[in-house]
Amino acid sequence: MTRVALGTDWIVGWVRRSAAVIGEHRAELVRLDREIGDGDHGENMDRGFTAVLGKLDGLAADASPADVLKLVATTLISTVGGAAGPLYGTAYLKASAAVKDAGELDGAALVALLTAARDGIVTRGKAEPGDKTMIDAWTPAVDAATAAQAEGADEAAILAAAADAAEEGAAATEALVARKGRASYLGERAVGHRDPGAQSTALLLRAAAESA
Ligand code: ADP
Ligand code: MG
Repeated sequence: MTRVALGTDWIVGWVRRSAAVIGEHRAELVRLDREIGDGDHGENMDRGFTAVLGKLDGLAADASPADVLKLVATTLISTVGGAAGPLYGTAYLKASAAVKDAGELDGAALVALLTAARDGIVTRGKAEPGDKTMIDAWTPAVDAATAAQAEGADEAAILAAAADAAEEGAAATEALVARKGRASYLGERAVGHRDPGAQSTALLLRAAAESA
């Protein structure tokens, strides 16, 4: 088992990879949101992460992981719009607060980061598990990361467990009726379609794991 505490380089790598992966999956996120929403989720997320990329060069040389997460938060809040902008913005803001001034993040810090992000989205959007939202990817991810850390998994394995669980959670939204967001207007007609925000969450958490 390799223990490599993850620092600012990891977070910056995660952000760059997130931007790349969201760009690659832009059309897919648009299609998912067209099926049960208004079709803008791919554009919203791509615009947000492209803006974040543009701001990375302005980071101070001694920026902490919390500083980078805060930059992501403020940029997403001001550029993404829709429901997802404030929700993801809150997630990164709470994640930033959770890691405080740590220079390197160990497994416990990663679990705290993910938990704070999920809790921030719940506080803001009031969704419960099973409502067919991004929470259905975040909550299994937090649970899996918590369990992996308790079993002594290393940082990369904790993030991989979170990413795997988020992907399963996103896939499982296909069977659900939506109770929050635009998709809730569709009632039973949303069944059979994957929630776009759950899918973008799975992409972002896979990017986190791949950057570790
Ligand atoms: P909009 O719905 O305003 O067009 P987006 O298309 O960018 O915004 O984002 C839609 C996604 O936001 C949904 O797929 C869902 O995952 C998420 N979402 C919407 N409302 C909530 C909420 N109350 N709590 C958690 N997530 C939500
Ligand atoms: Mg939308």
